Amino acid sequence: MPIAYVGLGANLPGPAGPPEAALAAALKSLAKLGRLVARSSLYSTAPVGLTEQPRFLNAVAALETELAPRALLEALLGIERGLGRDRSTGQENGPRTLDLDILLYGDLVLREDGLTIPHPRLAERAFVLAPLREIAPQVRDPRTGATVGELYERVSREGASKDVPDAVVHVESEGWRAGAGNAGGGDAGAGSDRDHG
Ligand code: ADP
Ligand code: MG
Repeated sequence: MPIAYVGLGANLPGPAGPPEAALAAALKSLAKLGRLVARSSLYSTAPVGLTEQPRFLNAVAALETELAPRALLEALLGIERGLGRDRSTGQENGPRTLDLDILLYGDLVLREDGLTIPHPRLAERAFVLAPLREIAPQVRDPRTGATVGELYERVSREGASKDVPDAVVHVESEGWRAGAGNAGGGDAGAGSDRDHG
């Protein structure tokens, strides 16, 4: 069964509560779509594109699933809606109660209307690559063959020259660690709370 890497992000309170609660609730819903085999810790990240908005909270989960890519996307969009995501008012790169993205789906390369895998902006986004490399440093981008670790190194070198203060900061959260275990993170996530600064 393929492993899909799903990016989670939020920077507005929603029906579940503050962003951290939305990510925890999303993880519980994700667990129903297959088997959660790993999840990263939380990262506080500076907004990209539209900078006048609250910082984001980001994480990545690894989901072993029988759902085909399109069905998985539909399920993710359903979870977003359930947790207050309103796309009618949303600006591009704007604030949101929950964002769920398919980053990778096994070694699939797909470009369809409304669904591109790997996620088209994966290689540019430190806020995705930092949590992703925590749980999957050796996994490769099937388009280029580069590992997640290599992509992260590249982006963090570029980020250093852009000089965004605290662009991606590891967050220590007891609640996330404990709750994520209940949501199926289990042992797979327990060793992945290292701080990558
Ligand atoms: P982003 O996540 O890049 O900030 P949005 O969440 O607003 O942008 O997503 C807009 C659209 O991107 C979604 O409605 C979805 O159809 C499309 N999309 C294309 N590829 C993907 C993918 N791999 N994962 C999630 N959404 C995707
Ligand atoms: Mg999205």
